[in-house]
Amino acid sequence: MAQELNVGIVGGGYAGMAAAVALADCGIAVTVFESAPHLGGRARGVTYQDTRLDNGQHLLLGCYRQTLHMIKKVGGNVEQDFLRLPLQLDLHREFSLKAPQLPAPLHLLIALLKAQGISLGERLSAARFMLALRRINFSLDHDITVTELLIRYRQDATLVKKLWEPLCIAALNTPVHKASAQVLLNVLRDSLNQSRADSDMLLPHLDYTALFPQRAANYIEQRGGKVLTSCGVKTLHPVENGMTVTTAEGTSRFSHVICAAPPAVSTKLLGTIAALAETVAQINRLEHQPIYTLYLQYPATVRLPQPMLGMYRRYSQWLFDKGQIGGQHGLLAAVISAEGIHQELSHDELARKVIAELNAEFGIDEQPAWCKVIAEKRATFCCSPDLHRPSQITPLSCLLLAGDYTTGDYPATLEGAVISGLKCADVISA
Ligand SMILES: Cc1cc2nc3c(=O)[nH]c(=O)nc-3n(C[C@H](O)[C@H](O)[C@H](O)COP(=O)(O)OP(=O)(O)OC[C@H]3O[C@@H](n4cnc5c(N)ncnc54)[C@H](O)[C@@H]3O)c2cc1C
Repeated sequence: MAQELNVGIVGGGYAGMAAAVALADCGIAVTVFESAPHLGGRARGVTYQDTRLDNGQHLLLGCYRQTLHMIKKVGGNVEQDFLRLPLQLDLHREFSLKAPQLPAPLHLLIALLKAQGISLGERLSAARFMLALRRINFSLDHDITVTELLIRYRQDATLVKKLWEPLCIAALNTPVHKASAQVLLNVLRDSLNQSRADSDMLLPHLDYTALFPQRAANYIEQRGGKVLTSCGVKTLHPVENGMTVTTAEGTSRFSHVICAAPPAVSTKLLGTIAALAETVAQINRLEHQPIYTLYLQYPATVRLPQPMLGMYRRYSQWLFDKGQIGGQHGLLAAVISAEGIHQELSHDELARKVIAELNAEFGIDEQPAWCKVIAEKRATFCCSPDLHRPSQITPLSCLLLAGDYTTGDYPATLEGAVISGLKCADVISA
């Protein structure tokens, strides 16, 4: 049966490459079509001023089991590829929480009880909240917003501002008043409740194209598959027992196609197929949220007190010291997740604000040699309550959908993308 299958995959992001690796592993012929010159999609390496950057600073969690497994499978070494930080949340000068070396969830409870920058009452209230979430098994009868959840569990304004809001925006890339409480609880359940290592924060030493998609391409090609970059798909057409894929190079026929392109492209490619009208409408209903990353190249002597640090009531939400993470000394990244007033500023104005913040908070008075703002306007879907995300399985048996926006427990993350790709591969290989 394996010989009869021949799968075309549209998109060489984390979802498409995970699907391709899993299929190649089963001896199934795969061809990946990627429109960009490099793999990785929304988690890709970019070069600017001879410096290797990412399109945005990403972070993995220890509980991202499938992503870490796939990185390992294609030749990565999870111990060597990452700087691994135990759970810690520091908002510079305002709040600090660090998990001790204890089993989960004790590590979190102690961290909450010892947190600095909030009152004893607030510490107890946060710990009671976590215990209450455990009692309900991190599961709500019906989904509500994160704001509504925090009110229900009497989390006061300081706790919200210093702990839950930064956590929610970092995890869901959606403001608390719009974010799904159930999806946040899914992330808390998987990262905080089982093993202590699940809540570790992993920052790769290498860029996100090199971390997985490029290694995956080598793995696939060694097993006879093809990975075609700068080869965008123009149309998809269902035919008898399969589907055709048309690019500028010509048309190929496959038994199955996995569409692993971003939502906006998927709706264009699938919009002409009558059987998929409802799926396309479902994708079109998704709203999106931005992520801005500002890279600033300071002299090599400039460093932050920690590799990763939060900021309180500033434009910059999280700062990363790439010198401490990957040996790129003097290179700092400031991340601003979700919608906000920063979108009203030009890139130059925003850069000036961030430079002033670095000066005010850390006394960095040198000017950066350069600053690069990367604004990903549709970085993730807006993770609101009761979202109806499209299934990986579509009304056409020869067409599957992969991508972080397809149905699943997770918000738009690398792990969500990888899981969706593996699910498509499972359906086809079964
Ligand atoms: C700035 C930023 C920061 C983020 N931070 C984090 C984080 O810290 N942790 C985390 O887990 N997640 C993070 N995410 C989310 C994560 O990057 C995404 O969830 C994930 O990369 C989505 O992967 P995907 O394969 O579903 O989609 P994509 O990465 O969008 O892949 C789709 C691919 O399809 C290609 N394509 C498009 N059109 C065509 C066509 N016509 N033909 C062929 N190919 C096509 C695209 O070029 C792309 O390579 C972040 C995202 C951004 C943008």
